[in-house]
Amino acid sequence: MKTCANCKQTNTDDNQFCTNCGKPLTEEAKEDVYPYRKTEVETPIVTKPTPEAQALELMNSMDESLKSIKSWVKFFGIVFLIALLLNLLFSCMP
Ligand SMILES: [Zn+2]
Repeated sequence: MKTCANCKQTNTDDNQFCTNCGKPLTEEAKEDVYPYRKTEVETPIVTKPTPEAQALELMNSMDESLKSIKSWVKFFGIVFLIALLLNLLFSCMP
């Protein structure tokens, strides 16, 4: 019989994991579980941000290009207004 170090549940000798809390009972089981858990934890961290980061990068670049377009539109709008005003002024002159 094995006693769980975590919850003191008694388990049969062929049990690698506690029947009550699921913690590994043997050193072998620990070695089997921890690399698996590590990869399970690491993979979402590596795979998850990539599409989101790519989307964010795209959004940022889109935003920057939009901002530059808006500033150019503003600039040309002001130039056009000045030209229109000058044209009006000169057309009013005798
Ligand atoms: Zn246990």
